[in-house]
Amino acid sequence: MDALITGVAGFLGSHLADALLAEGHSIIGVDNLSTGSTANLKHLAHEPRFQFLERDICEPFDPGRVDYVFNFASPASPVDYLRLGIETLQVGSDGTRNALELAKQYGAKFLHASTSECYGDPLVHPQTEDYWGHVNPIGPRSVYDEAKRFSEALVMAYNRYRGVDTRLVRIFNTYGPRLQKNDGRVISNFMMQALQGEDLTVYGEGAQTRSFCYVSDEIEGILALSRCDEHLPVNIGNPAEWTILDCARAVLRVTGSKSRIVYRPLPTDDPMQRRPDISKAKRLFGWEPRIDLETGLRLSLDYFKSCIGATHSAP
Ligand code: UDP
Repeated sequence: MDALITGVAGFLGSHLADALLAEGHSIIGVDNLSTGSTANLKHLAHEPRFQFLERDICEPFDPGRVDYVFNFASPASPVDYLRLGIETLQVGSDGTRNALELAKQYGAKFLHASTSECYGDPLVHPQTEDYWGHVNPIGPRSVYDEAKRFSEALVMAYNRYRGVDTRLVRIFNTYGPRLQKNDGRVISNFMMQALQGEDLTVYGEGAQTRSFCYVSDEIEGILALSRCDEHLPVNIGNPAEWTILDCARAVLRVTGSKSRIVYRPLPTDDPMQRRPDISKAKRLFGWEPRIDLETGLRLSLDYFKSCIGATHSAP
């Protein structure tokens, strides 16, 4: 098939491109490089089944006929979306709409990368897909949370009113090679700090929790969903829940670093807990993650080592 991936130069977009190319598909990848990096695509420079277009999906565009649209374009780390607040709202509205219009025009299937942030600071734990969430609509994180929630509403509306064959994946914290070294996310921060002998910066007391999914598991789940007929959201994430303090300790073990743990203020509206209930994905397509946090951190070690001293966000 011919697939369009928006946000192809990002962490997940580039891994998705690799997985689809390995299956023999052809890819048109679009990215405006606002947070993605061509370094994530440089191994595809001579791949005839891959074409890259530098373009902002907030402007209407036509890449030609495609069979599947994977909509992954958006700033995604708190540091990036707080810096690019308006752009984040725009790509979640105009950008998603343009991508949906393409799917409608070509009768293509559509998968949208949504997020556990739709649940906000959740009052239901673990989070099931039928939970509507607990989101501050005007706080600093709202530029991301509400953009993603509006995208979900758009996707459902194109499914209901325009007959587009859509899917929504709610992605939980994912990590692995190609995560930007300086995007401020917890795994990239801790790995880079540990490898450089700097203090690990735990925000708050480190009692807040996250559930970390290794990138190959995440991509497998997304691909399985892309082949299934479910139109309502599906959580794809690793249900193993870690406090941020225990995550810092795991990074110290894996890196063998002697760095100290220091404490910094908790950002506004930082969710206290997050853990996916993945029974829906298990039931629909038998997916569950296989790689635990320490194994995934070991698999990411060489990448983060290669980032030290590199000028770009990826080597
Ligand atoms: N965090 C931290 N130290 C850091 C970066 C993040 O303690 O250097 C915490 C952050 O406050 C949050 C969790 O780690 O509770 C995950 O943050 P991240 O930015 O990776 O993603 P989020 O899940 O908040 O979108």
